[in-house]
Formats: sequence, C-alpha cells, structure tokens
Amino acid sequence: MKITIKKVAINKERSKYYIPPDVLAKYGQWTVIDGNITKENDYNHYWLVRCACGTEGVRYANRIVNSKTGMCSACYLKKIKENKKKPKISAAKMKDEIIAKQRKEIDVLKSTIEWLRKKHNY
Ligand SMILES: [Zn+2]
Repeated sequence: MKITIKKVAINKERSKYYIPPDVLAKYGQWTVIDGNITKENDYNHYWLVRCACGTEGVRYANRIVNSKTGMCSACYLKKIKENKKKPKISAAKMKDEIIAKQRKEIDVLKSTIEWLRKKHNY
C-alpha cells in the first residue's frame, strides 16, 4: 500500500486515537514537530516527531504519548547495548568476591579444627 503523508484537519469523530497536537511538546526524547497528520485511507492519528538524536519520523500520536522508551528504536538499541556493556558488577569482581568469601569460610573451619585439636589433644 502506498503511503502518502498529508496534513489534514483531523476529524475527531473518525480518528479514534485523536490527541490534540502539542507542537514542541516533549515526550522523553521525542519532540513533537507537527501534529494533524494522517495517511491516505487511514484514520489513525499521527505526529511528526524528532528524537534527540535527530531521527524524524511519523508515529502514532498515541504511541508517542504512551511510549515506555521515549526514544527512537536506534537510541533504544544503543541504550540496551550500553547497559549490557556496563554490568553492575563485573564477572571478574564477582569471582574475586566468591573466592574471598570461600577463603573466609575455610579460615573459620581451620580455626575451629585447631580449637578442637587443642581441646581434645589430638
Ligand atoms: Zn534517537
């Protein structure tokens, strides 16, 4: 289907997702550039939006307002990648902590054994 983007006076009755355009409003990283956009043979309501990274797109107004990520897919993927790169605790550090904990437990056992040996003379 050919998608022709055109600016029209939205028929509020027909557009079930009508959200009044709030030009320059910010939703997360999105800035509303233009409202009142519809597509041919499509009564959904769209906005022209720009992400903080410069990506522009025509998106469902409803989806922008209720967006959980508040950014374009490229920014979202980048964010996920960065979060993966920076784990809260590195694997090496986790390993060191486990070893340190085990050493402490061994020390406790050793001193307990030592105490028992002295007590029972063997
Ligand atoms: Zn972006």
